[in-house]
Amino acid sequence: MALFSTAYSDARGKFTATAKSTGGTVAAITQGNGLEVDVASWGKPNKPTLLVSSGLHGVEGFFGSAVQLAAIEKLFSGLDPVVDLNELHTVFVHGINPFGFSHGRRVDENNVDLNRNFLKDRQHYRGAPDAYRKLNGFLNPQSPPDALEPYTLKAAAYILRYGVPALKEAIACGQYQYPKGIFYGGSNCSTATEFVMENCESWVDDAKLVVHIDLHTGLGKFGEYKILLNDSTSTEDYRWYERTFGENAIADLKSKDKTAYEVSGGMGAWLQNKFTDRRYYFAGAEFGTYSPVRVLGALRAENRTHHYASPDSDPYKKAKAELMECFCPASEHWRKKTIGASVKIISAAIRELQSQSSNQ
Ligand SMILES: [Zn+2]
Repeated sequence: MALFSTAYSDARGKFTATAKSTGGTVAAITQGNGLEVDVASWGKPNKPTLLVSSGLHGVEGFFGSAVQLAAIEKLFSGLDPVVDLNELHTVFVHGINPFGFSHGRRVDENNVDLNRNFLKDRQHYRGAPDAYRKLNGFLNPQSPPDALEPYTLKAAAYILRYGVPALKEAIACGQYQYPKGIFYGGSNCSTATEFVMENCESWVDDAKLVVHIDLHTGLGKFGEYKILLNDSTSTEDYRWYERTFGENAIADLKSKDKTAYEVSGGMGAWLQNKFTDRRYYFAGAEFGTYSPVRVLGALRAENRTHHYASPDSDPYKKAKAELMECFCPASEHWRKKTIGASVKIISAAIRELQSQSSNQ
């Protein structure tokens, strides 16, 4: 069976069938927008729990779904002598953002980047970083894409003028001011966000130890990955991540180019804040694809066509294809390498959870 799908429905079918064939229980949960998400589980609730989520950023779910399939086949089919499902509870959430997944977008039906939407208070859904306001005209042209536009030159000019940190700030922080802009965090709690908030308790139950791996693509070197941690991670916890996933895999929180601004609305921070009654480790596994300028260009063009071009038009089709390539490259080499690394990350989490299982 091919691990990578080209349609959400196709990915769902494979996920459900594979989960069931390995003894998993699958539930299709309907979100407030009427779209369904599949959640599969194995093992015993309340045991140390592994949560693997994918597709928070819609189109990135094509990669996340392939990882989940590979992990299920390799780790839960009884072939792996190390995995003991009696000592674990394992929950795989297939496509958190089914709208984005099925429409080839990174955002939800309201153009919202869900990883900026997990805010505690309604009043926080406002404003934009200064850097974003300055770049808004460049990031979000109010017109269909123009094939003759010298995008790369323009991007270089903005980088020269404002510097890489300003561009990074605009991207990392997201914004709550331009509903048709990229990296928009929304004006209230999105349906997919509510889905996570309402269901997360049933996923982790009373487990005292939870390791949550959230799969992403688009940031970093081609085919390589980093485990991204929240800014508030303590030194002690940082060591735990290093021990579990390997020193080199962890993005350094204290590196020189560490940015001073705070990311708001992230899912991981929200979950960790909710489950302070237990150890809840959250690892954002981010797999690199193409250069930041190319990925930004893909996001910009796809957003432009979504708002200002006809779905039948060539620019629209081209922009969709480029977005897909930037978040799930077709390269066999990339796919093989990233799937192998992902299964290793999930195995490492399982080993750690099983070693703690006897203590509970
Ligand atoms: Zn992502």
